[in-house]
Amino acid sequence: MRFDIMTLFPEFVERVLGESIIGRAQKSGCIEVNTYNIRDYSKDKHRRVDDTPYGGGKGMLMMAPPIYDCYADILAKSEASARRRVVYMSPRGKVFNQHKAKELAKLDQLIILCGHYEGVDARVIEEIVDEEISIGDFVLTGGELPACIVTDAVARLVDGVLSAPECYENESISSGLVEYPQYTRPFEFHGKCVPEVLISGHHANIEKWRAEAAISETARLRPDLLEQ
Ligand code: SAM
Repeated sequence: MRFDIMTLFPEFVERVLGESIIGRAQKSGCIEVNTYNIRDYSKDKHRRVDDTPYGGGKGMLMMAPPIYDCYADILAKSEASARRRVVYMSPRGKVFNQHKAKELAKLDQLIILCGHYEGVDARVIEEIVDEEISIGDFVLTGGELPACIVTDAVARLVDGVLSAPECYENESISSGLVEYPQYTRPFEFHGKCVPEVLISGHHANIEKWRAEAAISETARLRPDLLEQ
């Protein structure tokens, strides 16, 4: 799967997504992440990409033409047949969740627009964006962290990025519950021992304990999931 991220801060995005599992997935070719500096598409001699909003008001808005030209360049470099979607990271959007991550992971190409300042000229959103996605009901200074969050959540569902689908199928939220508590060595830590059943070697009992623990942890931490 291919991710194309339009941003004013490509190094930031590359740095975040270049680490750990997502970085390795890029190196192995399971996913491709391309970043584009919107400023490179400015026709202004000072490479300006923002201006004051019509009608007044505080702050600056990102102008439509450099974003549109960046998008056109991405399309020119993309396969015509790709199943693609263009999303704008925005606090106005529907809040991102695992269900949306699974939906996006079925695409061939996800193009992500990161806003900055007071946001983006509405006309370019209307013209190129299929969907606005928020990562929560709070406002950040830019769309770069949200874009990295969405890319990470979607990319780890792409075949080959994690060692096996079981890695995400039994996880919190995916299963409709939060995950059961997990433990590793040492057996005892600060006087607390690992539940005996987990060292019993009895797989059926371990599965039963995990299923019950997932329900009680969901009731404790996320009772709203049980209501759903
Ligand atoms: N004036 C805008 C509004 O009220 O909707 C907020 C602009 S915000 C300061 C700047 C940029 O950060 C946005 O264009 C968006 O790309 C990003 N952003 C901020 N909060 C976000 C969130 N919760 N989810 C996704 N993107 C967000």
